[in-house]
Amino acid sequence: MMTDISTTRILILDDDPFILKLLARMLVNLGFPLVDCCENGVDALKLLDDVATRPDLILLDLNMPGMDGIEFVRHLVERKFTGSLILVSGEDERMLKTTEKLVQAHKIPILGYLQKPVQPEALRMQLMKLASALSKGEEGIARKTYDAEAIRNAIDAGDMVNYYQPKVRVDTGAIAGVETLVRWHHPVDGVIYPSQFVGAAERYGLIDHLTQAVLRQAFAQAGAWQKLGCDLKVAVNVSMDNLASLDFQDTVVMLAAEAGVHPSGIVLEITESQLMEDERVSLEILTRLRLKRFHLSIDDFGTGHSSLAQLRDIPFDELKIDQGFVHRASEDETLRAIYDASLALAKQLNMEAVAEGVESREDWELLRQTGCDLAQGNFIARPMLAGELNEWVKKWRVRIEAEALVVRIEGQAQ
Ligand code: C2E
Ligand code: MG
Ligand code: MG
Repeated sequence: MMTDISTTRILILDDDPFILKLLARMLVNLGFPLVDCCENGVDALKLLDDVATRPDLILLDLNMPGMDGIEFVRHLVERKFTGSLILVSGEDERMLKTTEKLVQAHKIPILGYLQKPVQPEALRMQLMKLASALSKGEEGIARKTYDAEAIRNAIDAGDMVNYYQPKVRVDTGAIAGVETLVRWHHPVDGVIYPSQFVGAAERYGLIDHLTQAVLRQAFAQAGAWQKLGCDLKVAVNVSMDNLASLDFQDTVVMLAAEAGVHPSGIVLEITESQLMEDERVSLEILTRLRLKRFHLSIDDFGTGHSSLAQLRDIPFDELKIDQGFVHRASEDETLRAIYDASLALAKQLNMEAVAEGVESREDWELLRQTGCDLAQGNFIARPMLAGELNEWVKKWRVRIEAEALVVRIEGQAQ
């Protein structure tokens, strides 16, 4: 974990040796002594794969012969890179902005971008962001990492706690379901978000253990809601690594049966932003779960490698448009184009479309205008504990009317 600028390791990746020298000198002058330079992506990946040389920050050139910057980002995603990134390019602002969006959608913390020729002042501004993030211990930067032992103990101690975020119908405002989002209630560090331990659990081979704990809680909760007469679909995030062994489908089926919940009340959200190791196995698991009537959802749509191929091969019921293409899509042409295309694809393939990351009234209005089926995001509700849901539903009903969020209210004549 890096704690201050003197121990921050910075990697510059640029095919131009002159730029490398220039940037390295600027960085040293700004007080960053640990700087590595690479002229191509392959060498940079070698440094990344070694703990001793793994950078905290990468200055990445977009245009390079061989592996270009975008391809390099894909490798960062595969390696679950948790440092920060600054894009450097001679491309125009629009291209840089689009790439920035793409990187953010991959959940790689990006500090910003620099246009070539890089001015020392501009570089200093970007690095100030890093320094201030460091001092605040901001999410995504300089975060504490946890080892296998700590994660395993937390799972066994029941410190991994499910939160639930509502998904509502855009036309009526009715609550359709919830997405399960796990948080670690750490006895010392407080509430820890999944970005800080799910990737680690995958690397340590603990993801099956974690997913089981999450499924158990979620199914028990789904059963409890069913008994209360609430017709809520409960969604759970499934890691691609869970789909590596055929045991997974038996586990899911067994846990659902134990909790007495019908598979049709469960949605399994699969993120397509990781490469599949053995596609046949994951395909078989998903197809069999679908045959058992579990619902399948493709998560973070628009950000991954093989989204279209996966749509062809896997019978998804639901498509979740990534939050990176939802929030502010009404004011940004590029975002809007990706949002529209994803929505059209969902409709054409008869899937329910869910917009993630609905943060503002403007976002909500866009969904209404375009006929998106479901909405999820902080504008509607933040993830909450199961016990808080009832209270929220009451407040939401009041809000729908007070703020005129929908035309038709559920159960009311038009
Ligand atoms: P996701 O499945 O795409 O979940 C949506 C994420 O967006 C959640 O982050 C949620 O808190 C956040 N979010 C919700 N509304 C808004 C909004 O209006 N604006 C913004 N900016 N963000 C919003 P969270 O809880 O930190 O989870 C991050 C990711 O971690 C999830 O992305 C999911 O891929 C993964 N994850 C969460 N729980 C689990 C789990 O139990 N198992 C596995 N394998 N992965 C999980
Ligand atoms: Mg999800
Ligand atoms: Mg998502």
